[in-house]
Amino acid sequence: MITTITGQITNSGKTYIHEHLKINLSGHKKDPDTNFDDLEKVTLELSTLKHDGIETIVDVTNRGMGRDIHAMLQVSETTGLNIIASTGFYKEPFLPDYVYQQSDKELIKLLLEDIEIGIDGTTAKAHVLGEVGTSHNTITPVEERLLKLISQIHCQTGKPIFTHTTLGTMALEQLELLKNWGVDTEKVLVGHLDLSSDLDYHLRVADSGCFLGFDTVGKLNYQPDETRVKIISELIKRGHQDQIVLSQDLTRKSHLKENGGIGYSYLYNNFIPKLIEEGITEQTIEKFLIQNPCKLLNT
Ligand SMILES: [Zn+2]
Repeated sequence: MITTITGQITNSGKTYIHEHLKINLSGHKKDPDTNFDDLEKVTLELSTLKHDGIETIVDVTNRGMGRDIHAMLQVSETTGLNIIASTGFYKEPFLPDYVYQQSDKELIKLLLEDIEIGIDGTTAKAHVLGEVGTSHNTITPVEERLLKLISQIHCQTGKPIFTHTTLGTMALEQLELLKNWGVDTEKVLVGHLDLSSDLDYHLRVADSGCFLGFDTVGKLNYQPDETRVKIISELIKRGHQDQIVLSQDLTRKSHLKENGGIGYSYLYNNFIPKLIEEGITEQTIEKFLIQNPCKLLNT
């Protein structure tokens, strides 16, 4: 079963696995562009996306990132998309103050309420434990504490864990920790791996059995899409096609089409054709968009 904010489904259909309908990281980033709150424009773009055949969006905005369950409910109602919500904590320095003040037991109780009762006074429940992050080339003690806490909730509830790696780093370390704490790596999506261009690294991560997030598609300032396509193609040749999932991770006002950005349709309308051009079959692409997300999300 997959719990969306409006009920339960068993098949998520074509899915964008790592997005934010609304997110505010401007407090620390000191950049008003990172206060992403253009809900009207987002709704409009997502309506088009739904029309094109996308059925589900996983919103990985959690506590401290400006998660807005009312906005998610509104987008879901207007567009008809399935929206899946998340709970957890991101990474330093984007953590709410209470993380440093409350005990593990208190924090676990808060996260379980999001999953079992509903988020912020609604009956809309979280399904994903994410995006739980680590810093660039390091995992801080607090980040490790939160990863452990998330592992405990995973072991208790079976909910999938979505991680955030900073520029693709620390994926192996994340997996090692999660495994030691009893997490089923087949229920883990390591996020932003497509920001690494090192095929060998991808293969080592893939060997753990986790899902690989090619979830910053179109962010060309970090990585050309040609590199993403090449690595996906190599991963398929080595039998890892059942572990790849796709998304764009739009987080800034300037990412929206009307604001001059690539918009949510980029993955579907621009990136998928690049995969086909590379010789990847429609059947494999369906795996990335439908079967793989479905397997990862179902509990
Ligand atoms: Zn992220």
